[in-house]
Amino acid sequence: MSLFRCTSVAAVLAAALVAVAVQAQQPARPQLQTTKVEGTDGVYVFRNGNHQAMFIVTNDGVIATDPVGYGRPTGGQDYLNEIRKVTDKPVKYVIYSHHHFDHVAGGQALKDAGATFVAHKRAKERLAALKDPHTVVPDEAVSDSGRIITLGGTRLELTYHGLNHSDSTLVMRLPKEKIVFIVDTIPVAAFPGRGFIDIYPLETETFIQKVIAMDWDRMIPGHPGPGDRLGTKQDAQNVLTLMQEASAAIKTDAQAGKCWDAVEKDFKMEKYATLPGYANGLPMVARRYCALWGRGA
Ligand SMILES: [Zn+2]
Repeated sequence: MSLFRCTSVAAVLAAALVAVAVQAQQPARPQLQTTKVEGTDGVYVFRNGNHQAMFIVTNDGVIATDPVGYGRPTGGQDYLNEIRKVTDKPVKYVIYSHHHFDHVAGGQALKDAGATFVAHKRAKERLAALKDPHTVVPDEAVSDSGRIITLGGTRLELTYHGLNHSDSTLVMRLPKEKIVFIVDTIPVAAFPGRGFIDIYPLETETFIQKVIAMDWDRMIPGHPGPGDRLGTKQDAQNVLTLMQEASAAIKTDAQAGKCWDAVEKDFKMEKYATLPGYANGLPMVARRYCALWGRGA
């Protein structure tokens, strides 16, 4: 018994030392990073911590997206400063991906710089009602039929495809570059997490199917993918498959009367165990599908 304990302690210590060593080998990742998307004239990814946004530099100005400034008092100014390192052209637009504060808070510096804020009409309604002191309420609302932004030779399509991770998500597509910017609904090689709390599960499956049917090659996600890689249609398909599998499994459990407690405790998806966020995300996914199949909500 005591030998077993000693071995366990030694094993834990060894594992901790390995973890520290691995951490020490990795260069510190800067809080802010701006990267030009390969093969494009002026498409950039701005990253602040674990959030990121697309911006596009055109001949006549900049189209920016989410300020990603939640809990980051200088986030909006940092974003503007990063844009200023690339161009001195005016920031004409800030377009919100959806209404969640972790993506849209912090835009005041961009507003002060003269940008027009654009979002889906539901985002504008929600933000007007919530009156968050750190979030600029959009100037212009996009209806369900979408909008095309044209600036300095760049065409950016804003389209709405129904409920998904939120009720206000705009898909932003650059048809020439075949790039889309889609936030939160389609994580790149990561297990879904807290964002599942208010997702519309069945509608999200339809949304992802519609996104896959669109014409694009690369997706800029709202949270960096592994090694900062961009997403592909295969990533979108993987998320759809994961959701369909989770939904089917919990549907059976729910109809057997096992929601919520037993499912939240016992639900596993072993084939996804190596994805980042798996352990923390499982109970979130279980709870959301229990709400759907065990409660009807
Ligand atoms: Zn979100």
